[in-house]
Amino acid sequence: MLVNASEMLKKAKAGHYAVGQFNINNLEWTKAILLTAQENNSPVILGVSEGAGKYMAGYKTVVGMVKGMIEELNITVPVALHLDHGSYEGCLKCVEAGFTSIMFDGSHYPIEENVAKTKELVKICAENNMSLEAEVGSIGGEEDGVIGMGECADPKECKMVADLGIDFLAAGIGNIHGKYPANWQGLSFETLDAIQQLTGDMPLVLHGGTGIPADMIKKAISLGVSKINVNTECQLSFAEATRKYIEEGKDQQGKGYDPRKLLAPGFEAIKATVKEKMELFGSVNKA
Ligand SMILES: [Zn+2]
Repeated sequence: MLVNASEMLKKAKAGHYAVGQFNINNLEWTKAILLTAQENNSPVILGVSEGAGKYMAGYKTVVGMVKGMIEELNITVPVALHLDHGSYEGCLKCVEAGFTSIMFDGSHYPIEENVAKTKELVKICAENNMSLEAEVGSIGGEEDGVIGMGECADPKECKMVADLGIDFLAAGIGNIHGKYPANWQGLSFETLDAIQQLTGDMPLVLHGGTGIPADMIKKAISLGVSKINVNTECQLSFAEATRKYIEEGKDQQGKGYDPRKLLAPGFEAIKATVKEKMELFGSVNKA
């Protein structure tokens, strides 16, 4: 069932669990995530970065694929199709293409401009029954060429943006996209706590979920995080399983070169990673 992410995240915040956003790159990724969500009776958010959208031949292609799969695979759990780190122009394209949710990443603008553009998108999302995520304080690491320093968001700025009518808020609390460096300082729970105290019921989003220790994830959920983005971890699982298949020479045995066979171990690895995350986040049986 394709829905926006507003209800599922309100329920998650009230129920003290988090819904995973898993980024998709192709048909295998999408199918693996949808089937795992259904098998675990979990709500799910499919994340699409602008780069991945381009890779998959455009947002309309993505919408067609996701809608088709939901119908043909009988996916009845709530699924949101969400633009990840969208530019203002990218957001407008996804509205037109039929996404159900968007993230406007205005974190690199001065706060006044971030606010002005977010306000415009609040109006557009309301008219189109879509949910909207905004970001305050840039998130560390690299995503589609945008490099953030992993700063901590100003709780007062978070409150200001939360009050614009958005549905959920991503705030930097020392989290980083991609792999965490060995000298990473960990999440700033002090910042998270201060943000939640000011923003109340607003579901908070944790980006860069790959490699954050399980106890930190649980603590973040207890402090109001209701959506956790996982991207790199599925990529690593997929690559590892695919490498093993090739290294074992299985592509050279029989019809092991058949793409449906060649991509199967990676597909199963994504499923296992997604299941593990749904269990950790507490979203199993919350559909
Ligand atoms: Zn992110």
